[in-house]
Amino acid sequence: MHHFEPDKIRNVVLLSHSGAGKTSLAEAMLFDSGAISRLGSVTDGTTTSDYDPPEIKRYISVNLSLLPCQWKDCKLNLLDTPGYSDFVAEVKAGLAVSEAAIIMVCAVSMVEVGTEQVWRYTGEAKLPRLIFVNKMDRDNANFFNTLKDIQTKLGARCLPLQLPIGSQKDFQGIVDLVTRKAYTGNPLKEAEIPSNLKGDVDSYREKLVEAVVEADDELITKYLDGEEISEEQIHRCIKEATRLGKVVPVLLGSALKNTAVTPLMDAIRDYMPSPKERAELKATNASKGADEVIEPVSGAPLSAFVFKTTNDPRVGKFSYFRVYSGTISSNSQVWNVNKGATERIGQLFILRGKTQEATPQIGAGDIGAVTKLASTNTGDTLGSREHPLKFAQIEFPAPLLSMAVHPKSRGDLDKMSTVLPRICEEDFTLKVQREADIGEILLWGMGETHLDVAAEKLSSKFGVDVNLQRPKVPYKETINAQTEAEYKHKKQTGGHGQYGHVVLELEPKPRGTGFEFTEKVVGGAVPRNYIPAVEKGVNEARMEGILGGYPVVDVRVTLIDGSSHPVDSSEMAFKIAAAQALKKGMAEAQPVLLEPIVNMTITVPDTLTGEIIGDLNTKRGRVSGMNPGDGVNVIQAQAPLAEVQRYAVDLRSMTQGRGTFTTEFNHYEEVPAQIAQKIIAQKTSQKAAV
Ligand code: GDP
Repeated sequence: MHHFEPDKIRNVVLLSHSGAGKTSLAEAMLFDSGAISRLGSVTDGTTTSDYDPPEIKRYISVNLSLLPCQWKDCKLNLLDTPGYSDFVAEVKAGLAVSEAAIIMVCAVSMVEVGTEQVWRYTGEAKLPRLIFVNKMDRDNANFFNTLKDIQTKLGARCLPLQLPIGSQKDFQGIVDLVTRKAYTGNPLKEAEIPSNLKGDVDSYREKLVEAVVEADDELITKYLDGEEISEEQIHRCIKEATRLGKVVPVLLGSALKNTAVTPLMDAIRDYMPSPKERAELKATNASKGADEVIEPVSGAPLSAFVFKTTNDPRVGKFSYFRVYSGTISSNSQVWNVNKGATERIGQLFILRGKTQEATPQIGAGDIGAVTKLASTNTGDTLGSREHPLKFAQIEFPAPLLSMAVHPKSRGDLDKMSTVLPRICEEDFTLKVQREADIGEILLWGMGETHLDVAAEKLSSKFGVDVNLQRPKVPYKETINAQTEAEYKHKKQTGGHGQYGHVVLELEPKPRGTGFEFTEKVVGGAVPRNYIPAVEKGVNEARMEGILGGYPVVDVRVTLIDGSSHPVDSSEMAFKIAAAQALKKGMAEAQPVLLEPIVNMTITVPDTLTGEIIGDLNTKRGRVSGMNPGDGVNVIQAQAPLAEVQRYAVDLRSMTQGRGTFTTEFNHYEEVPAQIAQKIIAQKTSQKAAV
């Protein structure tokens, strides 16, 4: 593929609810443009976009893929994204580097939860959008019902540029409302407008023209004066109205049958902004600390934003970048502005799915990739040391669900610590957390599928096999009463004996204040040189409480008395005596189990408030506040971690994915007695089984 100037590039992200047909559409566009010679299919696992084993297995996209093709005089950089909400990180990355979005809607399922979500994302990113109503060939496909649903849920400014000729089995093509021309067949050929459509063509065209001329002050006056507006003027207005978000053009077709896909490509070329026409973009000049407007020209100082990183065991690290200004060349050096370090650029590539095409340079507005960068991560800007420009990071949502990662073998355990950070480097919505209290490594992600795919990647890419299990709850133990406990460790077995004798006082401390050891020994009853051994014994014993073996907290232990033997006393003997005294004292001081309580902020559609609160009650949750807002309710609550560890899964199924939440550890609280008994019994039976 040769070099394209910024005004001849269109970076567009394909978005939809899962299954609306993005991957199939991208495949059809690649085929129609001649970029591929055989049309692959999702069901056969042969598309250019979905080539990863987890994608083929599930028939869904889990990765962002780059699918460039040439259409007429333009290069279209299509960014196919996963529709499944677990893979939101890929969607965010795609949005960050695109000038426009194509939102696909299925003509049977119409506007779905995921459609509303990507509509919101594109609104937040202020991207011009275009809607493609897909699957017009399917049974029950209905364009006009879908259009009505779109206008009701997404807004009345979504206006068709085309009307369908036929539907379902009889879907044949489209009528272009601007030119009033009909096209049918594959490839499309001009045809007669069916007589029953003529009235609709006039009325929909009228609505379209009326809406788009508003983008042009001069034309609107002409239009209101009854003057004829030329096709060329209408095209210009559609482009401007789309750029301003005043109108969202709606097109239609069938990706699977490859019907009416080329008019969509024309619309991308004609109506979507080029990198030159996008809204003003600023970056921070790191040496001056001030913002600068980026000039999207190849001769300007380099600024290239790294929006995705993948680790391939064969080729190593792949960094995907978008050049905003300047030009990046193969076999050169650039400056990583975030890291303050030089990066050596080897061979540059243009990626299409899994195929890589070597290229000498990538200019402003275009997207490319490079391997083996030393210090560069997703979110970094590559530029020049003399003119160091830096873009803001992509904002990723915090992960919501954690699973404990258990290696399947000793070898897997050894490799895990180096490989886990690498999969997190690829995906900023994955996080690794070492939980010392429960001795587990937790992998956090957006949902079950996300974590399953991460585990599959560990195996297929890095040869590390793991099981994912529900994490243990980090319970703790404490006491509710004050007591004194005495223990004498004494053994006389010929030769040297063992003698250690301590009296400990145990008292409860306020919640959250931790564990404390002090001593108040008078008259050297326990010689000073043995006190550290006593402390060690207490500290070791308190790591395994007497109820379920959980760490003991919020207790003050004071060494108040004891005795020693001039020959038989030793550090070991005092350590043993101290540990035993602590256990004895714990047993007598009304021991109880503590559990972590988390604060939750849950945002749900207001119609579901009752159901969500009912569910929180069954989870021992306490609602502390509610803030109704624009169709949603924001619920503040506290709940035991043990009950809400899988809230990401529960909330998604209760709200069909419309709810969101965050949790944050707050404090420890006593577990109600009946529940504590069950936890302890379970722990005891697990220990017995080992
Ligand atoms: P994505 O999840 O949005 O990428 O959707 P896919 O392209 O993977 O398509 C999901 C399913 O819908 C696959 O089984 C496709 O074969 C099917 N599909 C996609 N486009 C069409 C279409 O235009 N018509 C029909 N009948 N099926 C389609």
